[in-house]
Amino acid sequence: MNSATVKTLGFKAGERNIFFHLLTACNLSCVHCYINPKQHGANMVSRQEMVDWLKLFAEPDKKSNIIFLGGEPTMHPDLALGIKTARQLGYQSITVDSNGFLFNDLLEKIKADEAVISFSLDGPEPEVNDPIRGRDVFRVCTENLQKTVKKGFDVSVIYTVSRMNIDHLDKMPELLTNLGVKRFFIQVIGFRGKSASARDKLQVTPDEWLTKIPPVAARAAEMGIKVIFPKVFLDEEEVFQCAGQVAENYFIFPNGRVYQCPLCEDYPVNAWRVEDGVLIKNEGLTEDRFFTLNIAEGCVMNKLLQPGNIVYDDKGRPRHRISCCLLKQEITANR
Ligand code: SF4
Ligand code: SF4
Repeated sequence: MNSATVKTLGFKAGERNIFFHLLTACNLSCVHCYINPKQHGANMVSRQEMVDWLKLFAEPDKKSNIIFLGGEPTMHPDLALGIKTARQLGYQSITVDSNGFLFNDLLEKIKADEAVISFSLDGPEPEVNDPIRGRDVFRVCTENLQKTVKKGFDVSVIYTVSRMNIDHLDKMPELLTNLGVKRFFIQVIGFRGKSASARDKLQVTPDEWLTKIPPVAARAAEMGIKVIFPKVFLDEEEVFQCAGQVAENYFIFPNGRVYQCPLCEDYPVNAWRVEDGVLIKNEGLTEDRFFTLNIAEGCVMNKLLQPGNIVYDDKGRPRHRISCCLLKQEITANR
């Protein structure tokens, strides 16, 4: 086994992804934190809201995936109830994205087949991870990850690539193998929340991304790990698609804002809101007005909000179109 195949995971009609931010609070203060309390408040959804909103977004006839997020979602005392309710409502996959602290004895309150636990690690060792995520975070996260694997849960790891850790990504496949992790999500840093003001320290160039990420992903795949990472740059023959137009994604915040595009989360342009338990379409200049704009650079919100990752040729044409940030590719080993 010495090669790998990369497959773009196109948007699937009828598939829905519900990203439910239960609260914005967190015990950590990561350098690249994307949470923006000015836009999304400091409250958490109540137990009743959690149940009601899960019902509001449930559509058991379609493949609906739910991802519980924060802040740190395990700080919500009713997360276990949320997971069990989501199962009863027919959500097909249930994931908790945690920073690894696993508060409120979550693992004692749910069964291993009730949710996938995804751990955020931004370095293969404390010297890389902890300057980004906080002192002693590597130890706590990896210890809890191992406990979770031992209990039989399906676990994955998310690595947010920035200038602070891109050169250490190549050590992750060995660490993941040692920890028993079979699924690895590599994500590119987005400039939202706190990371928007630390852009110079964090942003990777297109060349760095294209030369450094795929080889590590291929090696991890050869070691038996399923690797998913964003497409970012479209190949010439590939068609640009905006998930806001062709897919169903909802990014729900505890103050009731519901976005369709994660790049828009720093702005009050959410297409939807939940008010008094009802999902309401917003009027005015909302994110969906931008989704239909057809530009040579690909994603219009990327062009507006993070143009630094677009490189132009000497005739002023973009060298690559930027894909939708929600478009992923999966790499698997050829056996
Ligand atoms: S990035 Fe996640 S874990 Fe880090 S401070 Fe923000 S919410 Fe917490
Ligand atoms: S990232 Fe760009 S392409 Fe994707 S939903 Fe947002 S605006 Fe559309």
